[in-house]
Amino acid sequence: MAAPALTGGNFLFMQSNPNDVFIPEEFSEEQRMIFNTVKEFMLQEVHSMGLAKLASLDAEKDKDLVLEIFRKASELGLCGVSIDEQYGGMGLDFNTGLLFTEALALGFSFATTIGCQTSIGSLPILWYGTEAQKKKYLPAIASGEKGCSYCLTEPTAGSDANSGKTRAVLNAEGTHYILNGQKMWITNGGFAEVFTVFAKIDNDEKLSAFIVEKSFGGIELGKEEKKMGIKASSTVQVFFNNCKVPKENLLGDRGKGFNMALNILNSGRIKIAAGGVGGMKFGLEKCVEYTTQRQQFGKPISDFGAIKQKIGTIASHAFAIESGTYRIGAEVDKKHAELKQAGSSFNDAKINSMREYAIECAILKVLGSEAMCNTGDEAIQMFGGMGYSQETGVEMAYRDARITKIYEGTNEINRMLALGEFYKRAFVSKEINLGAAKRTIPAAILQNYNPFKSGEFATEWQYINNLKALFMILTGSAGNRLREKLVDEQEIVMNLADVMAMAFVTESAFLRVMKLKAKRADKTEVEMKTKMAQAYLYDALDVARKAANNALDSYCSGIEKAILKCLVRRMLRTYNVNPKNLKREVADYLITRAG
Ligand SMILES: Cc1cc2nc3c(=O)[nH]c(=O)nc-3n(C[C@H](O)[C@H](O)[C@H](O)COP(=O)(O)OP(=O)(O)OC[C@H]3O[C@@H](n4cnc5c(N)ncnc54)[C@H](O)[C@@H]3O)c2cc1C
Repeated sequence: MAAPALTGGNFLFMQSNPNDVFIPEEFSEEQRMIFNTVKEFMLQEVHSMGLAKLASLDAEKDKDLVLEIFRKASELGLCGVSIDEQYGGMGLDFNTGLLFTEALALGFSFATTIGCQTSIGSLPILWYGTEAQKKKYLPAIASGEKGCSYCLTEPTAGSDANSGKTRAVLNAEGTHYILNGQKMWITNGGFAEVFTVFAKIDNDEKLSAFIVEKSFGGIELGKEEKKMGIKASSTVQVFFNNCKVPKENLLGDRGKGFNMALNILNSGRIKIAAGGVGGMKFGLEKCVEYTTQRQQFGKPISDFGAIKQKIGTIASHAFAIESGTYRIGAEVDKKHAELKQAGSSFNDAKINSMREYAIECAILKVLGSEAMCNTGDEAIQMFGGMGYSQETGVEMAYRDARITKIYEGTNEINRMLALGEFYKRAFVSKEINLGAAKRTIPAAILQNYNPFKSGEFATEWQYINNLKALFMILTGSAGNRLREKLVDEQEIVMNLADVMAMAFVTESAFLRVMKLKAKRADKTEVEMKTKMAQAYLYDALDVARKAANNALDSYCSGIEKAILKCLVRRMLRTYNVNPKNLKREVADYLITRAG
């Protein structure tokens, strides 16, 4: 019998069976076809214009070209991937939607344009709308006839999104809300016809949401923002001046807009990870191609260890983050099916299956965006001066990637959110099984002193269990010492979030390798993927060790600190593999394959 969907955050206390975990190698022919269609589209419509031209596109100057590509994408059905068939879309399941997002990444700025249309722009209506609202708005969004936008941020309300000043007041006749306020950084705002706008009704403390059509009037757009990257993606301010919104366009319940905004962002966050994976893989392809051709000191630069190390690092990090991303994508689908089976409404099943994985989505957003940015940086380094030139497109990739650490909640906010959600689920809603932790932690610690460990990847599983146990021990200890002050000690919160993130992603990578082995996948493939997982674990332990020590040096003292430091030394001791050789072998494999 298939295992039930993972409970969000419970990866910390239970070890999933590899058979119950989805791995990307299991995508069907049909799903791969969708991936390839999007990839082909991006190569033909976007890359064919030449990377130098693409790098110099501007959402204002080149609006017609941007809209032309948007129109072609619509004709192919790309605007309707997340919208269910009854509303004119393709109705892809969530995990296929992530695969679609991975392929989109090849489109640079256009990935943001289509990504907004298929995600934050349309999902509020799909997940929270009434039947009448869905029927009215979704078909035109799915067909691309109408562009859509998500308007949460304001000049004085960025990370603190609930502090927005935009107001909605019901008119005397009780027929319309009169909307006044200013939204900022609105993706697709320059051409959107439909806006999901978050605003407070009267003197409410909490946000509500509205579906606003440009045709309602009272909407003014600012100039296209001059940005560091994603320059062809439209980003504008949107001003609402007595905009008359019919009463029936209130989306969801009054005062529930902030919850809606956050939940939509959960989905956007894991999509950033999927896009990051796409970007990393594409970057890797380009780096391998360039470094095998570029000769210095009489040989291809890919022969040098310094270059192989970069290729090996990018590949292993992409592998691990990809493992976590599609693992959770499949859990969202599983949870969705379970909720529907249990009688949840269409909307509740969509909403709650996403909300379940808020912790994992935050972790993946942070790691995916940081690995993607690092890939851009290292790609420029591998290309040398040519990487710095507009001609190769690498500098554009670097600039475009940078936004992913900022939007959909900055990485600081997401690190804090991951830990905050953990506390909420552990102590308030009690969805996280702390009882299980009490049993698994002592066993995990004792196992470090067992010289006769056996089983497949016994050492690696020991480290993964140690990461989980240490996270719990440090979180408990910091919580005891600092109590409610912990939330203000953000440096420590971020350290703890890093340990948790390393536990989740390393576990996902090894579950994938074990499943591949059990399925008797191609021997070389399994060998290479094992090396990638090991290389990632080596790096992850470095990150976790530093974060754990940093936290302890920051809040702890005396005998408790001495004991905990001793535990960190023991539980996160050096992983006895050769990181240089692992990454070289991965790089050599990719270089040979490309050849
Ligand atoms: C190109 C682009 C497209 C965007 N698209 C959209 C869109 O379509 N719709 C939309 O609504 N918004 C959009 N945004 C807005 C985006 O979501 C915000 O920029 C983001 O949430 C951060 O808000 P901010 O820029 O005001 O930064 P701030 O909130 O001012 O943050 C600045 C710095 O302070 C840190 N910080 C803030 N609060 C805290 C805290 N409590 N603790 C610790 N550190 C903190 C942040 O992490 C960051 O490092 C977009 C932004 C850009 C640049």
